[in-house]
Amino acid sequence: TLSDRLADTFKNLRGKGKLSEADIDATAREIRIALLEADVALPVVKEFVGAVKERARSEEVSGALNPAQMIIKIVHEELVTILGGETRRLRYAKSGPTVIMLAGLQGAGKTTLAAKLALWLKDQDKTPMLVAADLQRPNAVQQLQVNGERVGVPVFAPEPGNGTGNPVEVARASIEEARRKLHDVVIIDTAGRLGVDETLMQQAADIRDAVQPDEVLFVVDAMIGQDAVVTAQAFLDGVGYDGVVLTKLDGDARGGAALSIRSITGKPVMFASSGEKMTDFDLFHPDRMASRILDMGDMLTLIEQAEKAFDSEQSMRAAEKLATKGGFTLEDFLQQMMQIRKLGSMTKIMGMLPGMGQFRDQLENFDEREIDRIQAIIQSMTPAERDNPKIIDGSRRARIAKGSGRQVSDVNQLVDRFFEARKMMEQMANGGGMPGMPGMPG
Ligand code: GDP
Ligand code: MG
Repeated sequence: TLSDRLADTFKNLRGKGKLSEADIDATAREIRIALLEADVALPVVKEFVGAVKERARSEEVSGALNPAQMIIKIVHEELVTILGGETRRLRYAKSGPTVIMLAGLQGAGKTTLAAKLALWLKDQDKTPMLVAADLQRPNAVQQLQVNGERVGVPVFAPEPGNGTGNPVEVARASIEEARRKLHDVVIIDTAGRLGVDETLMQQAADIRDAVQPDEVLFVVDAMIGQDAVVTAQAFLDGVGYDGVVLTKLDGDARGGAALSIRSITGKPVMFASSGEKMTDFDLFHPDRMASRILDMGDMLTLIEQAEKAFDSEQSMRAAEKLATKGGFTLEDFLQQMMQIRKLGSMTKIMGMLPGMGQFRDQLENFDEREIDRIQAIIQSMTPAERDNPKIIDGSRRARIAKGSGRQVSDVNQLVDRFFEARKMMEQMANGGGMPGMPGMPG
């Protein structure tokens, strides 16, 4: 999947201190393959990769983020941009009922969506009415009626026995009915076919002309991949629409359709439908979708927080010290640990890092007080001991243990761990690496 590929790419970047042109090219290549595999249309991929490359080249490496994190950040921001930036809200009519017409292929999820949207509007104190203008399929009207009942919204349908109903007439009549009954939103469900065809487009266009909708929403199954773009374009030409609704997002982890449609049609994705329950529906949030495409857990949140919490000057100083062998002291260790603590609990921080899922059990058993203990031990040391841990001999250990209320074995363990961590960090300092992770107890 896209997320896996990107994660792999970023893994390769993890040890790097600086991005070379070759790194950027390699990363761009991986992102390109990943997006193509996620069914994102080629022109969109090209545009996207170009934008990421450009920014990766020009952006300053900040003190708080390593290159891998920076690329993740750039990719995320560019994803949000290409997905449309801000969420686009429904436009309501200034007077009279707001008319929303749904269009899309058969099976796209229009009828289901009509009811979900009605429920969502009801929750916002609207009084919607559903309109059964799909007279194509034998059960279409009944299906909408069942759904309408589930969400407690009335359905305007041709009377039984009035078999040869004309969907255009039904739609037109529904607006009158809505005025009479003071419904402020009318949602018109229309017929779809299995593929794009003339008759279908013509009928949708006729309904559109008859009711002059405030919003035409194109409903599309996110699982159909590249075909979504072709269909989206056909409906844009044949009927025209103001916004897009992606359905069945629960079944599609790839998100390629969302990227392509917005970018190629220029129409915003406004709503997302993600399940069979009537409440599996929400406004489409580009930033959430971007996070989902990246699937970096809360890595992005962590990056944001890290940028805020890390005093970049202090990180720089620590980095300098690391570059000199033995320059990093227990005092620095303590400082770094306290910086990390500003980000939240260790369990939370670890849980945010991608690839940490396998350690979930250990994380759950991780005792936050461990940090307090480490802190107590270091604080029981003299400044000289913190600066030069090598001098901490047996008698000093006994004194420190006493002072911090710990066992000598605890002190031994901490000192050993510190030397191990320092060695590891000195190695990382020469090739970069995650800043601020040294305080992590094993
Ligand atoms: P229409 O032909 O466009 O009116 O599509 P329907 O509303 O009849 O939906 C077709 C099928 O897709 C039905 O079985 C729905 O239950 C299902 N469906 C619709 N939306 C979603 C969704 O968001 N997630 C899932 N899993 N199924 C959906
Ligand atoms: Mg239907």
